[in-house]
Amino acid sequence: MTADNILGSIRQDTRDFLAKPLKLLIGGRWVDAVSGKTFPVYDPGTGRQIASVAEADAADVDRAVAAARAAFESKAWRDMKACDRERLLHRLADLIEANADQLAELESLDNGKSVMMARHLDIVAAVDFIRYMAGWPTKNEGATIPVSMPYVPDGKFFAYTQREPVGVVGQIIPWNFPLLMAAWKLAPALAAGCATILKPAEQTPVTALRIGELILEAGFPEGVVNILPGYGHTAGAAIAAHAGIDKVAFTGSTEVGRLITQAAMGNLKKVTLELGGKSPAIVLDDADLDIAIPGAAMAIFFNQGQVCAAGSRLYVHKSIFDKVIDGVAGAAKQFSIGHGLSPTTQMGPLVSEEQVKRVCGYIDGGLADGAKAVVGGRRLDQPGYFVEPTVLVNTQPSMKVVQEEIFGPVVVAMPYSDLDEVVAAANNSIYGLAASIWTRDVSKVHRIAPALKAGTVWVNCHGLVDAAMPFGGYKQSGWGRELGKAAIDGYTETKSVCLAY
Ligand code: ADP
Repeated sequence: MTADNILGSIRQDTRDFLAKPLKLLIGGRWVDAVSGKTFPVYDPGTGRQIASVAEADAADVDRAVAAARAAFESKAWRDMKACDRERLLHRLADLIEANADQLAELESLDNGKSVMMARHLDIVAAVDFIRYMAGWPTKNEGATIPVSMPYVPDGKFFAYTQREPVGVVGQIIPWNFPLLMAAWKLAPALAAGCATILKPAEQTPVTALRIGELILEAGFPEGVVNILPGYGHTAGAAIAAHAGIDKVAFTGSTEVGRLITQAAMGNLKKVTLELGGKSPAIVLDDADLDIAIPGAAMAIFFNQGQVCAAGSRLYVHKSIFDKVIDGVAGAAKQFSIGHGLSPTTQMGPLVSEEQVKRVCGYIDGGLADGAKAVVGGRRLDQPGYFVEPTVLVNTQPSMKVVQEEIFGPVVVAMPYSDLDEVVAAANNSIYGLAASIWTRDVSKVHRIAPALKAGTVWVNCHGLVDAAMPFGGYKQSGWGRELGKAAIDGYTETKSVCLAY
């Protein structure tokens, strides 16, 4: 099926949405950027432009902050009952579900990922997460505290804590899971009672804008959610630095996380960061290879390797190294690579030309340093941003391909001899987002899992996240946790109230 045939078959409502002038959502209205500028959005499967989107910059951030502040302080939002906040979040989840087929097409066209994956994974997970978060407004409890105040011998006191929304929050998200990342950011902020300014990545602003429409349809008060597509160094930097924003939540590269942290220092806004990773997948000599081999392959090749928790360093016991590498390479060869909208596609393109250059630059650098590609290693010779799934061996721990996050379908595979050695190798990284262990021996799990410096350790699986399970990084993989109650904590302040009687 050619790209033209595939694109010819997209839904009419998808076509209509992309044909509209896509604007900024500020204060409950769709508006042009103050500058009047727009930027193009491309289909990664063909490289063709699919939409034109208003380009926010600092002046629009000022407008959105004013709208968010007014909304945050409005009776409509501040005094909304917890059960009504819950109802709004459920309504949003229902609307996303009702529009799932259109959203999946938009996501696939915008990001390149398979439409099937967008429909059955990204959107299902986003809806589940919003519903999970809808439960929190009614459960966001404080505590009563048995205070002593020993220096006030006759004093009697009653003390309690309450959780309050942190205020106006800026939320900056990446392009690898555009809709899901928007849900991960918006839902806990709204459940906590914050007002938000969301900046989608410049490569993938489309589904966030459709979500903006659904937010208005759900009935959230105007200005509670503002959506500003734009570039990182302009709109993103303005959000990170803005004195009227109380907290910035960021998901993206460690490099940009550092810039955001510096920019946030002006007003010491709160910062949470979900950053890069170079997560190890560790296959022990007793592993069930029928599970470990496809598991290790999916750990890296899922979403074209554009996953912060991707298992991009594969450590395999030397006694089974060749067998496992053959298996992972075999899986790589079998992927059906194609346009995301084709129902048979298992692996789509990377998100952009820039990303192809970056990933291929890493592969070429690794080969020049002495690594060998067992499979893959090249860009596909066709329109769009396709790179072959690649397995590199003969690497050294100091090589860039072993140390740095590639964010593409490239795994470095290394043999090891004993558990202490592999734990030390796994921890030899500036990152600490996640890790996986593949074994049938539960006692080894209990030895290795505590020793790994990683925010999530999976056993006999990799990359599975859940609305209720905290997710985030050790070391330079981030600050704070998303998902679960931890996400609510990130959008609330604790107030202690102490009453003398
Ligand atoms: P990538 O390099 O993979 O594109 P980034 O970390 O650069 O990932 O991008 C993640 C998000 O951060 C995007 O929304 C991007 O626009 C934004 N961003 C990039 N640079 C900055 C910056 N200097 N300040 C704030 N946000 C930024």
